[in-house]
Amino acid sequence: MITLPRPTGRKPDTAIYERRESAVRSYARVMPRQFNRAENVWMHDNQGGRYLDFLSGCSTLNYGHNHPVLKQALLDYIAADGIAHGLDLHTDAKAEFLETLESLILKPRRLDYRAMFTGPTGTNAVEAAIKLARKVTGRELVIAFTNGFHGMTLGALACTGNAAKRGGAGVPLAHVAHEPYDGYHGPEVDTAELLERRLSDPSSGLDAPAAILVETVQGEGGLNAASPEWLRRINAIAKRHGALMIVDDIQAGCGRTGSFFSFEGMGFTPDIVTMAKSLSGMGLPFALTLFRPELDQWAPGEHNGTFRGNNHAFVTASAALRHFWSDRRFEQDIARRGALVARRLEAMAAQHGLSTRGRGMMRGIDVGSGDIAAAVTTACFERGLIIETSGAHDEIVKILAPLVIDDAQLSAGIDILETCIAEALGAPYGVAAE
Ligand SMILES: *Cc1c(COP(=O)(O)O)cnc(C)c1O
Repeated sequence: MITLPRPTGRKPDTAIYERRESAVRSYARVMPRQFNRAENVWMHDNQGGRYLDFLSGCSTLNYGHNHPVLKQALLDYIAADGIAHGLDLHTDAKAEFLETLESLILKPRRLDYRAMFTGPTGTNAVEAAIKLARKVTGRELVIAFTNGFHGMTLGALACTGNAAKRGGAGVPLAHVAHEPYDGYHGPEVDTAELLERRLSDPSSGLDAPAAILVETVQGEGGLNAASPEWLRRINAIAKRHGALMIVDDIQAGCGRTGSFFSFEGMGFTPDIVTMAKSLSGMGLPFALTLFRPELDQWAPGEHNGTFRGNNHAFVTASAALRHFWSDRRFEQDIARRGALVARRLEAMAAQHGLSTRGRGMMRGIDVGSGDIAAAVTTACFERGLIIETSGAHDEIVKILAPLVIDDAQLSAGIDILETCIAEALGAPYGVAAE
């Protein structure tokens, strides 16, 4: 018997939030419960409700909520009065993280990267990456892509496509060109070729770029997955034109697409990689910018931040690397679960004439409109499934289940989604093609 979601349906008093919390809150509006506890794939509300989490903090909780191994490592560290905050001072926790990163992640993949601890959010890792690229190349322009999402601070926001997010800037967002992502003009148009043409043509109006910034799967922009071939060519274009290739692996990394880095096995090595979200493994704020050693041209303190290198996150991140990435078993589990998600989504798509997106355990289904997607996610939540949307019109319902979810729970959650999609589309109930 598997544990099933158990939503209460009772809405708690939200007066304090309406009275005191900024109107900027968003997820809380579509999931109006008060959560107080979480473990593994479950979130609990304070009225006894139990929800299956298919959002995982937007891929921040790839190893589930409060994983016992990570939690114990943190409890032990705090109990021993381990350093909580140390600016960028050397600490045991930092040394252990760097050594674990080197031995379990970088060396086995033959990657030689320096690690820069930025401020603790993803956007900070992106800021550091594009700043470094501009500094090293002496150029201003960054090429980003349609539907890309890179964060909310001005430099990263300039690289983000979404108009509503950009509108919040209040100042011009300059020095970035948004070129069409793989498949943007449909399967017939080769957008890598378009980019090459524009960069090779002295009259195209496109300046020589400092960097090309890309997500291998666009997490917020609709789960569009670029082909390995396209990414290899974009990397070659960057090389040819003296630009640095930056892969923003903040959402797609840490196993979400199947391997630790989302670009593994694709036949190219990015110059710079940004990581955050699931890096700490426990939802603690922690971001990292990795780059080739020759690019490490920073002056001491040139980019800094009070919370660079969160020591508690060093501890949980090291524990996560040791627990999940010491051998290939976790990757095999992700591959199997990803295939299950793909098979189920494709069956729904075939039944309703829809299409699917994504790769690994980062997949979604295009239900045709933001309104339908909102109806689906609302209905899912009422049945105890936490699930969100992605895409230019929020039209993609995305499954970002914890990577540790067992196959039965995964199937149970997808069953709820299948029912809600059928209902929202007005199709007969339960005619599942499986
Ligand atoms: C979430 C995300 C960011 C921004 O990270 P924050 O921690 O929200 O600042 C940047 N890039 C990608 C691809 C993301 O998914």
